Amino acid sequence: MKIIKADRIIVGDGKTILPDSAVLIDKDRIVKIGELEELQKAAPECETEVLEGCTLLPGLIDMHVHISGLYRRPEKAEMQENAAYLMLMVYKHLQDALSVGITTLRGVGEAKGIGAAVRNGYRKGFIKGPRYLTCERSLTRTGGHGSTGEVAKIEVDGPWNLRQAVRNNIKEGADWIKVMDSHRGHLSEYTLEELCAITDEAHRNGKKCAIHAGTEDSVAYAVEAGFDTIEHGCYLNEELCKKAMEKGLAWIPTVYVYENSVDYMKSVTPNPTKAEQAGIRFLEDTVDGYRKNFLRNYQAGMLIATGTDICFPEMFITPIYDEIETFVRYGLTPMQALQCATENGAKILDMDDEIGLVKEGLCADLLVVEGNPAETITDIRNVRQVYRAGELLVNKMVK
Ligand SMILES: [Zn+2]
Repeated sequence: MKIIKADRIIVGDGKTILPDSAVLIDKDRIVKIGELEELQKAAPECETEVLEGCTLLPGLIDMHVHISGLYRRPEKAEMQENAAYLMLMVYKHLQDALSVGITTLRGVGEAKGIGAAVRNGYRKGFIKGPRYLTCERSLTRTGGHGSTGEVAKIEVDGPWNLRQAVRNNIKEGADWIKVMDSHRGHLSEYTLEELCAITDEAHRNGKKCAIHAGTEDSVAYAVEAGFDTIEHGCYLNEELCKKAMEKGLAWIPTVYVYENSVDYMKSVTPNPTKAEQAGIRFLEDTVDGYRKNFLRNYQAGMLIATGTDICFPEMFITPIYDEIETFVRYGLTPMQALQCATENGAKILDMDDEIGLVKEGLCADLLVVEGNPAETITDIRNVRQVYRAGELLVNKMVK
């Protein structure tokens, strides 16, 4: 058992701050929250850690990562062939995510077998890191988004082949199903019939579905077909948002990566071809889409969660602090943005009885930062400790 006392606890529900409070952890659980003296009375023999000037909050949830993503990596060809090297990269990415306070990740398109390998490593205890849920390989149509030379995709067409691909992914250990359905054009890449086959097959097997749907057509089909999360959804306009909410869809906008991609693509293509210019223009348009839609959709009651979606090799794999700060820049309060990175992700994953809040009975996935991110959101970067299921895995406290 252990008591952790901070200057305040941000519960993660978007509104509650408990000043001068402590948590009592027993094994992997938060068993009690209260004043320090009260907890010390309840568990007199146990270790107490007092974290002066710090805030305790739930471990963060990143809903959109590709920890085995090879996009634009110079060594891509070699790594496709080299499973050991790929696994080392995956391991590094898990540790990087943990280092910024992420205790749960959802991999939305990974190389074959990554999810099972990580799961086994955790189960046997020889690696430690964030909880990791996987979609296994994402599904894309022949010639569809991401189909060219990526190990993290399956090219598959037609309702019955798609049903089989969903079944195969589940057999290989998928927790979720991921579909790629749009790229730079405004067309939905799959037909509505194909998308409905995917959601029907996944749902009848008890799995939820995520869809990469950047453009309006694609978002409209995603809503119609009953997906569970829309990834990107830059053009989730007022009318589509209303329909999406009626159907219970949630939104993982991944705003930061799109904003950042504009600058990134300009920097790596100093003399862009016509096609590259069109690509940059597309990205600029998507950022305009977010600016029009993000705050209005949030205020309408859309369930929104953070996802980082970094695929570029030069960038840190999970800059969740950037996504949280972007939400604040787009008009959320720091507390609302933090809820998007904690409770909202847990709800979408149907794990809100386990993670996402600092609450008695829940898993002790906890983050300690110096400062007060409820007032100064950039304090979320000052990570001091990260607990995963009650185990202190990151400790940067100066003794
Ligand atoms: Zn992605």
